Amino acid sequence: MSASTDRPRVPRPRRADTTSAAGIGDAVSRVPLAHGDGGRQRIGNQTVQLLLRAGRVPTGVLLEHRSAVGNRVVLGVLQAQRRTPAASASSWASRRTAVRTARARGDDREADRLTRQAIAAAATGATYPAAIPRRLPTPDDILLDPMTKADAHAQTRPKEIPAHPTDYWRWLSFTPQLIAGSEAQVQSVITHELVHVAQFTAIWNAYEKDTSPGRPSWDEFLKPHQARRRVEGPEELQAHATSLDFLDRLAPGEQVVALRGLFSSFVATVAYVPPAGEAVAITAAEVGPKILTYFRGTGTTMRQRMGSALWWSLMDVGPAKATFVAVLTTLRPVALAGYADPALRPVYDDLLAAEGIGRTSWR
Ligand SMILES: [Zn+2]
Repeated sequence: MSASTDRPRVPRPRRADTTSAAGIGDAVSRVPLAHGDGGRQRIGNQTVQLLLRAGRVPTGVLLEHRSAVGNRVVLGVLQAQRRTPAASASSWASRRTAVRTARARGDDREADRLTRQAIAAAATGATYPAAIPRRLPTPDDILLDPMTKADAHAQTRPKEIPAHPTDYWRWLSFTPQLIAGSEAQVQSVITHELVHVAQFTAIWNAYEKDTSPGRPSWDEFLKPHQARRRVEGPEELQAHATSLDFLDRLAPGEQVVALRGLFSSFVATVAYVPPAGEAVAITAAEVGPKILTYFRGTGTTMRQRMGSALWWSLMDVGPAKATFVAVLTTLRPVALAGYADPALRPVYDDLLAAEGIGRTSWR
């Protein structure tokens, strides 16, 4: 969901994920995604040092070009963070092993075939939005795209719709590396993309209804629906909100990725001001209570993970002060769970001070 700011000529694909699993090169070379006015969201060396001392670097976002931290140190920290225990069902584990074995002997064709089979099988555990027909895919329906970066998991590509208007599996592509994660993650990713399928189906139906001679091209028609703030805000939040149902079954590292996606799109949705007449896909007021209900029902470890992911997302999105405060107060128990971490609290205090947010405005 953190694609480039370039406005491509073709409709922008929607992605399942944040860029939080980016490689080390990305981690040290990327500047924060949103700086706010005059770069006031910029996180500098001091913050990085604090995070390293605390043993935790929020992956991929905070390290700037001017960071004094050496690549090797950062690499070590990030690798330690990425050890994700595999806790999958044995049938999924054996599918994964079979793919890995085929890949290792250079038989990519067989590895891809087995991967398509595994993803198609996982789709039986996905949730289908009411607005689209539930159509289970065959392995041949699953399109793998090695060009879909591993951190994006999957894409919904609206430019494919005119050629296959009713066959939505043709609109989706998956990274072959999806097999490396848990089966629950695949189910969650498919569920996420099916929300985008429903969103694009509604847009396509509206386009089909327009029979006027001056009807624009599909690409042109899509443009207002592809506005970056809209796509990264409510459209993405509607898709990410589905991950709450899968969180308990994800591996810890996958939970972090899912939570960052959820909270980043939540922050972007709070900040989003729709143009007059636009019906938003979902509001923060709808999703906030669901997040809090889940939070109240979960254990200490997950609460801490949620708190940490919320602060990460605030730093990642870098919203204006009013949005920052609105998110902290709306999700106050989650924010407090993150703030309770003594190692990271100084970082958050720095951030709040930089924003001019006093304790009385949210705690
Ligand atoms: Zn998405």
